Amino acid sequence: MAKTQFNSIIDLINKFPNEQACLAQLKELRWKDGIYCPHCGFSEKIYEFKDGKTFKCASCRKKFTAKVGSIFEDSPLPLQKWFLAIYLITSHKKGISSVQLAKDINVTQKTAWYMLHRLRHVSQTKSFNRSLSNTVEADETYIGGKEKNKHADKRTKNNQGRSTKTKTAVIGVKERGGNVKAQVVADTKGKTVKNFIVENVVIGSNLMTDEYRAYRGLGFAYTHDYVKHGKGEYVKGFCHTNGIENFWSILKRGIVGIYHFVSEKHLNNYLAEFAFRHNTRDLEESVRFNLFLENCQGRLQYSELIA
Ligand SMILES: [Zn+2]
Repeated sequence: MAKTQFNSIIDLINKFPNEQACLAQLKELRWKDGIYCPHCGFSEKIYEFKDGKTFKCASCRKKFTAKVGSIFEDSPLPLQKWFLAIYLITSHKKGISSVQLAKDINVTQKTAWYMLHRLRHVSQTKSFNRSLSNTVEADETYIGGKEKNKHADKRTKNNQGRSTKTKTAVIGVKERGGNVKAQVVADTKGKTVKNFIVENVVIGSNLMTDEYRAYRGLGFAYTHDYVKHGKGEYVKGFCHTNGIENFWSILKRGIVGIYHFVSEKHLNNYLAEFAFRHNTRDLEESVRFNLFLENCQGRLQYSELIA
C-alpha cells in the first residue's frame, strides 16, 4: 500500500498537484509487485527513462507509461481530473451525477458521463467479487418507473409486484456485516434465483430470505431460514433480510435522487458502483481511493458504451 495518506479533497489536490505526481502514484499502485510490460507481460528487464514516467520493455522493445492498459490509457484528460473524479464517486455515499462531476472538475457533461462509466467499469473488477459466506441475506428487487405515476394509457397491465414488464429485476446477496453483490436478472424464477445464490454464496453458509417461493429448495446447499413478509413478520430471532433491504433503499434513493434515470443496459454498472461504495464503507478515504487505483486496469471504449 502506498504511504500517501489524505483525508480531504484539498489534501488530494496537494498530494497530486500535477501529472508527474499522479503517474508516480499510479506506478506505485499498479506495479507494487514490480514493473511488468503491459504489452507482453515481460518483467525481467525494463528500462526506465530519465523523465521518470516512460519505460521500455527489453523484450518487445515497446515504450509505455503507467497509464498503458488502464482505464486512463487513451484519455487526453490530466490524471489529476481522474483522481478527483475517483475521489468524488467513491466518497459520496449516493454517488455523483455527470452534471455535478462536469461542474466540479470543469469538463463537459459528455466527458463526465464517459468518465463515470469507466469508473463503474472498475468496480466490476473480479478482485472486488469474492464469494460471500457465514450468514448471508438474499433478496430481489425491481428497479423502474412507478406505474401509478404514468398516464393511464401508458400503464402496463398486470405489472405490479414481481412482474418485469416495465421494471428490471435485480437480485442481491449481503453477508452480515460484510459485502454486497447484486446483479440484473431476466426474471426472478426459482432457477435464476438459485443459480445466482449458488454462484455467489459459499455452500454451507446460513442463508436468510423471505418466503418467496423461488428461494425454496436451497436446503441442500445451505442452512436456510426465512421470514414471512406476507404475514408482517420482518425479524424472527436471528433471521431477517434488513441488511440487503437497506442496500436496496440506498440504491433506489441514489438512482432517483442523483441519477434520475438509469437505463436497463447500464444498471449492472450502477449496481457495481453502489456495491463498491458499500463494501469499502469502513475504509479511510485514501485507502479506498488507492484500492480503486490498484484495480484500474482494463480499457472501456466509448463505442462499447453507446453500442
Ligand atoms: Zn514487452
